[in-house]
Amino acid sequence: MPESAEEKAAERSARAQANRSYLELARRSLTEESARHEVTEGGVTRRLLVTRRGVGPIATPFAGEFFMFDFEVDDQWRKYSVLFKGEIDQHLRPKHEPELPLLLRIDSGCETGQVFHDTSCECGAQMHRALELINESGQGLLISIPRQDGRGMGLPFKLATLTVQTEMGLDTVRAAALLDPQGERDKRTYSGAIAVLMFLGFSPPLEILLLTNNELKHAIFPENGYDATLNPFSTSVTSEVRLHLEAKKRDLGHHIDLYDSETDANQDAHNHNEGRENE
Ligand SMILES: [Zn+2]
Repeated sequence: MPESAEEKAAERSARAQANRSYLELARRSLTEESARHEVTEGGVTRRLLVTRRGVGPIATPFAGEFFMFDFEVDDQWRKYSVLFKGEIDQHLRPKHEPELPLLLRIDSGCETGQVFHDTSCECGAQMHRALELINESGQGLLISIPRQDGRGMGLPFKLATLTVQTEMGLDTVRAAALLDPQGERDKRTYSGAIAVLMFLGFSPPLEILLLTNNELKHAIFPENGYDATLNPFSTSVTSEVRLHLEAKKRDLGHHIDLYDSETDANQDAHNHNEGRENE
């Protein structure tokens, strides 16, 4: 049945109207919006300034479509990126069913693994798997902190540990200990991610399913009034990572001697045969 001239005109008009509203939304996304949010971490409360710098849709090959948000926070990590699964409203805020738990992954960036697919760690596979799980749940988000390379030690230190790992056959934790015997093994903080969560309207109390195996990533949630439970998940182990893990296993006794006073995160890394160096 050929469409009548009237129907065609109505369709054109509706499309023009939709295009105008998308253009308006795109323009609105370029207007930065800031707010301060109070977050407590390790007993210290700070009022963090969160600035939303941009929003737009992306399509990933492994987990479908997300809205990506670009944020800046006035903490040491500065840049935060959010991939949100779901719909956003005209004010660029995620729509959320408050009675449903929120699936959340806080993802420490790993430029070597996630951007360039270096085979010595699983950070890329882990991020992809988290996005798959969020996609399957239909509602959730991943907060990426791109500058938390090497458990927050930074990219230069991470690259140095890779020299030790590659040339001396040591695992990431031992390599870090050789380069900086007195240093902390995990310098990451998560208050910026909580501030971003609050900015997006995911305020406490809220039931959160946290995609992680790391207890250190959980502590900040009850501290800020969220009802969060750990949702451990795993990824398939590649042959390269398996070799690395076998080296870790061989040296396990040494690790325990070196790290028995270390953080749970490092113990966690040893206890899971998945080489999640930035988990
Ligand atoms: Zn990594």
